[in-house]
Amino acid sequence: MSRCHNLARFQKKVLATVVLGSMIASTNLIAQNLEELKHVAISDIDDNAKLVQEMVDSVFSFAEPGFQEFETSRYITDILAENGFTIEMGAAGIPTAWTATWGDSGPKIGLGSDIDALLGLSQKPGFATIEPLIPGAPGHGEGHNSGMPAIVAAALAVKGIMEAHDIEGQLMIWPGVAEELLATKAFFVRDGMFDDVDANIFTHVSRDLSTSWGPSGGNGMVSVEYTFHGKTAHGAGSPWSGRSALDAVEIMNYAWNMRREHLPLTQRSHYIISNGGGQPNIVPGEASVWYYFRDTTFEGVRNLFDIGNTISEAAAQATETTVERRILGYAAPQHANKPMAEAAYENFKMVGLPEWTEDDKAFAQAVKRENTVSFVSYVDPEEEEDLLVTELSPLSTPETRGPSMGGGSDDIGDIMWNVPTITIRYPSNVPNTIGHHVTAAMAMATPIAHKGAVNGAKAVALTVLDLLMDPDLLNEARDYFENVQLQGQNYEPVIGPDDQPAIHLNKEIMDQMRPLMREYYYDPEQYDSYLEQLGIDYPPQS
Ligand SMILES: [Zn+2]
Repeated sequence: MSRCHNLARFQKKVLATVVLGSMIASTNLIAQNLEELKHVAISDIDDNAKLVQEMVDSVFSFAEPGFQEFETSRYITDILAENGFTIEMGAAGIPTAWTATWGDSGPKIGLGSDIDALLGLSQKPGFATIEPLIPGAPGHGEGHNSGMPAIVAAALAVKGIMEAHDIEGQLMIWPGVAEELLATKAFFVRDGMFDDVDANIFTHVSRDLSTSWGPSGGNGMVSVEYTFHGKTAHGAGSPWSGRSALDAVEIMNYAWNMRREHLPLTQRSHYIISNGGGQPNIVPGEASVWYYFRDTTFEGVRNLFDIGNTISEAAAQATETTVERRILGYAAPQHANKPMAEAAYENFKMVGLPEWTEDDKAFAQAVKRENTVSFVSYVDPEEEEDLLVTELSPLSTPETRGPSMGGGSDDIGDIMWNVPTITIRYPSNVPNTIGHHVTAAMAMATPIAHKGAVNGAKAVALTVLDLLMDPDLLNEARDYFENVQLQGQNYEPVIGPDDQPAIHLNKEIMDQMRPLMREYYYDPEQYDSYLEQLGIDYPPQS
């Protein structure tokens, strides 16, 4: 109560000072007021830690891969609707995408995080050994179950403060649907989702609380499936009558692998044969290969795409088949906003890192011990120091990072080229697990993930308050975006007006898996935590 009273007093003082015309004093009071409000946000988010745990555990248990996030989206939008947000489902024509907005005037701040799981990475949480919850089912092997809980907790705290203190502004929450397929954010942008957004904060699970600015090493990428059409025939009786689409796929892959040697060192490319035919005695009449082509620049990605297309046509010619292609996803190279990253970093100092218990440390050590292969390039397996991060690392800048040799991608890049954006990473996972592997799922419904998401929520909330209450920051962010970031480079995605989101992906596997997975959905009414529901000791008793 006294806290609220103090804040009301600050507001009155600011008003009184403005009336008196003393602008300098008023600026100081706004700063003081902002500092006070940040403490309120931190305390409100701590008070909401139970909801964060429930959201992290629930989304972990839903474990839905890209374009199948029906349960996750229903669950999160229900919470937001109950809290006064207006929900619009089906954003950009994608059934599991949505926006949740609140407020009707003032600066509009976008808040997003990825929500999808990965195929085949089902894992019992709190186990330091590989232990699928449901063999063959998807799992949160990248920790995308924790990001939206952090965003929701941040938004609820900020909304409460805006209402209590008549702070003008609008919040728009949006989900990173099918991020693992890099398949939606370019469509969100094309559909105009960010046209009236002034700044955007994205969150991603990590080992520590961090952010960066500038070209941040997130590769651009195009995801494209080539489908060859040939002619079936009896594989032994009359093979000369057939034209093998699988032959074309193999020639394409061979040619691409030869060509790799003569591509820039920054490129990364990988493929799977998504359709290799039916059975050996039928010459495959149809076959498909699905490529991800990545590089650090817009031009680099387009170059790889052009080479892939040429090779696909050559493979079709060589086999007397035909080829068609479909773009399944796209991600722009990432570039994060400098003034926003610097403001966020100042907030990290105020938020600090979570307090890890002896149990958390023991679990992190168990994960490391059981999975030494995961830590090969990063951590000496003999080292006994605490794995969980307890100190802030420096703000990541182009100077501290050095030249990028590329790596993974996130289609947040597309949003970054349309509105000033940063990614805030928060410490919900054990450091140095292998991404896209079950080791990265082990901690994701344990107190490590819960505390990390609470920590991330605070960092997001404080930075939103900066954006709403410090008009200089929004102006500086816009200035950097227009006069630094967009100088010399423009947003040039490979997707065109006719490309459509690949919403068919993962439907078949989920039709098969969802009934089995439903049995394991977290029930927060009955169990204090998902670990409790599953009867798992934390840390593991060994
Ligand atoms: Zn991710």
